[in-house]
Amino acid sequence: MNDIELEKIDQVIFHSLSKEDVLVQLRSDENKGLSETEVARRLQIFGSNNIAERQKKNLFFIFFTQFKSPIVILLLVAAGLSFGFSEWMDGFAIGMVIIVNAIIGFYMEYQAEQSMQSLKKMFSAPANVIRNGHLSEINSENIIPGDIVSLQAGDIVPGDGRLISLSELQADESALTGESLPVEKKLEAISPESSVGDRTNMLFKGTFISKGNAYMVVTGTGMKTELGKVASLVQSAKQTTTPLEIKLQSFSKKLIQVTVALIVIIFVAGLLNGQNFIQMLETSIALGVAAIPEGLPIVATLALARGMMKLARHKVIVKKLSAVETLGGTNVICTDKTGTLTKNKIEVKEIYPVSESARTVIKDISILCNTAEIYTENGEMKEIGDPLETGLLKFFLGDALEDIPVIRNKYPKIKEEPFSSETKIMATLHPTENGHRVYVKGAVEELLKICTHILGEKGEEVLNSEKRNFWLEKSDNLASSGLRIIASGYREAKKDELVLSKDIVFCGLIGMFDPPREDVFAAIEDCKTAGIHIVMITGDHPATALNIAQELKITEPDDTNVIVGKDMKDFAHLNEQEKNEWLSCRVFARVSPKHKLDIVKVWQERKFVVGMTGDGINDSPALKKADIGIAMGERGTQVAQEVADMVIKDDSFSSIIMAIRQGRIIFENIRHFVIFLLSCNLSELFIISIASVFSLHFQLFPIQILFINIVTDVLPALALGITGGNDEIMKMKPRNESEPIIDKQRWWTIIFYSLVISLTNISAVSISHLTVHKTELWNPELCNNILFFSLIFTQLLHVLNMGKSGTSFFKSEVFRSKYVWYSIVLSLMVIFGLYAIGPVREVLSVHSLSLGDWAICLSTSICSFIIIQTAKALKIVKQ
Ligand code: ADP
Ligand code: MG
Repeated sequence: MNDIELEKIDQVIFHSLSKEDVLVQLRSDENKGLSETEVARRLQIFGSNNIAERQKKNLFFIFFTQFKSPIVILLLVAAGLSFGFSEWMDGFAIGMVIIVNAIIGFYMEYQAEQSMQSLKKMFSAPANVIRNGHLSEINSENIIPGDIVSLQAGDIVPGDGRLISLSELQADESALTGESLPVEKKLEAISPESSVGDRTNMLFKGTFISKGNAYMVVTGTGMKTELGKVASLVQSAKQTTTPLEIKLQSFSKKLIQVTVALIVIIFVAGLLNGQNFIQMLETSIALGVAAIPEGLPIVATLALARGMMKLARHKVIVKKLSAVETLGGTNVICTDKTGTLTKNKIEVKEIYPVSESARTVIKDISILCNTAEIYTENGEMKEIGDPLETGLLKFFLGDALEDIPVIRNKYPKIKEEPFSSETKIMATLHPTENGHRVYVKGAVEELLKICTHILGEKGEEVLNSEKRNFWLEKSDNLASSGLRIIASGYREAKKDELVLSKDIVFCGLIGMFDPPREDVFAAIEDCKTAGIHIVMITGDHPATALNIAQELKITEPDDTNVIVGKDMKDFAHLNEQEKNEWLSCRVFARVSPKHKLDIVKVWQERKFVVGMTGDGINDSPALKKADIGIAMGERGTQVAQEVADMVIKDDSFSSIIMAIRQGRIIFENIRHFVIFLLSCNLSELFIISIASVFSLHFQLFPIQILFINIVTDVLPALALGITGGNDEIMKMKPRNESEPIIDKQRWWTIIFYSLVISLTNISAVSISHLTVHKTELWNPELCNNILFFSLIFTQLLHVLNMGKSGTSFFKSEVFRSKYVWYSIVLSLMVIFGLYAIGPVREVLSVHSLSLGDWAICLSTSICSFIIIQTAKALKIVKQ
């Protein structure tokens, strides 16, 4: 096919062609797919299968939004006034500060945006494609027209395609058409005029398979898909703001209001006191500048974004910034058992056939009523599918795994009723030497319900209640030793059976073992100290579930309470007592996904923050409803991953706990730098107010305050935002969701800190005046300079006060954080670097200080540090 023809494919009306014609048009082969060279060629022509992203935030846009903040407006006013009063130097310097401030803000926002982008890249779905005659998993970005894609329930369709084979296929196309009912799919060609919603032989990118499985040949990718066409119309998806950012924004707003009020009071008081108007104006500007914690929201965003990146490196993909925050407050985790608490490396331990002839049938059932595959590729054994099913293949075929395709080709599957967590049964129909057979496997109770006979030593016998109870009891006993049990059965059948799972002949049980993951023990221990409840929710047998729960110490040793799905009423019909029973139960067995939703509701009604794991299509409602929906990366369907807030790549429970820990750390870090920034700013506010109200002989200048805020606050605040967290973090009780970032106690702490800082600094000036200079005359310039530097030192050292109360200083997360030390050293270098430049000194109105003055500045900062540390040790303040 030449390139001209290829480029014209979007003019072909694929749904009106037969599948053979479609394959001819696209020069593809149903069984072999495209060749490697053809793939490379087409990738060149069609490009990657992406919906063009919403315009990335434009760099200029980011830069100019930096000028929108109230602080900048305030500064612009200040600069304008300075120029107005011919204070050229000041005006110019303030202008510089505005620019530096914008650059820092720009850089931080750019960083945050970058992290979000690279996270998005990490979260790209795989697609199963036949190329070169092999089925392999590729990144769905790389599919091209002509690819043969294999799809099954739960998959998100990676591109537009024409169906070429299918079994009981239904697709949920609500994302594209708004139609909420699943659409039944067929192979027949349809009229060319059919609208998108009626194209029953096509699948569309972005929709998902809700039932069955299929192969399709890709007809369109990227922006050439129906989704692409719609997406180009609605491309302005708004970036949402996290609750934390909103909290911080409203927090900053309040702060500004209080500051303005304060400024007015001091201004009027000053004028009434007979102060000079211009001087009062300058003081007011200084106050305004001092109070506003510039960059507070953006440092928070950066801390959250960095947390996401860090989690991503640990194989946890958090999809929304706000989820990081919620994670920290999670206090209930409802978790799957199989694969999350256990290894999901399922090994058959023992089979329990009804009779010798049943033994051989069990083997046939295990191989044929089975969708898993095991094959060797490049000398490596590949396992695809449900581990329970690969476990069966390994047990029954042992070294003869290469026979799988041979056997399956000999007895091909004509029809399938796939396994689902609702039915807990799977059935298939196959031709045999003398007719047809249905093979069934599934949960024991469910399978026995549809059994009428049993394959005894003398052939098929009626399954009476005595035998039924015998096998039920047997499975209970096996399950309570921790085995995962499935039952198996068959029946002779006709070729065109409508319902497969009925009138089954029971063959026996298969006992499997799925050991707990080693790392989960410690994670559960952590949950206990961290006050997080764990609830196990499983489709497995209650006895198996309880056995694992006890081994993992999810339940207390004497707690054998298990709630079973069939006894669970709808949420709407639960009374208080039943709700309490649910809340106190740690193991839910034989549940179906609908019960998960109800369990979330019961906990949420009591104001718990619930994390819920899930993997199937039907888990979506529960994942959405939970505060944190957690999808499994390995065994989770793409749909579950799509609706979840977080995806655990390795499926392990301990990763969830790791993420919660990280969420807590981030929240604590944000708290720390908010306390840091506020106490620094407030101390400046105090100093200026005190100097003004008491008409002291010195004052801080606006430009100096700007310098302090930018040089000494930004880097340490950033460093505080990324410290590694306190060892005790998982020993604290979960944060209450309504708890503000700064509660009453912490406000007191902030006020205390700033009082200590401002008073020690003002004392420093007096002491230097009285002791070093031994003069009766105040030298305002010298006083100002000493105040300036002692404040810088004090604030830099103050970073080290930010460790959590209750841990000793040297063990605190702040002392041990290399970033904190870097930030202090770097800030000092910047300060002295700038100090060495004459014009800068001039702008800042600073002069050379004597050694004695330096000593005073330094001891002031140490003094303030010691007072605060002592207060913390004596529990006068807590943070
Ligand atoms: P969970 O994932 O919570 O362990 P499932 O819904 O996967 O629960 O399984 C519930 C029950 O269904 C199992 O106890 C087992 O008896 C049966 N079962 C599980 N997987 C399969 C399968 N692939 N085919 C048939 N039966 C299965
Ligand atoms: Mg399962």
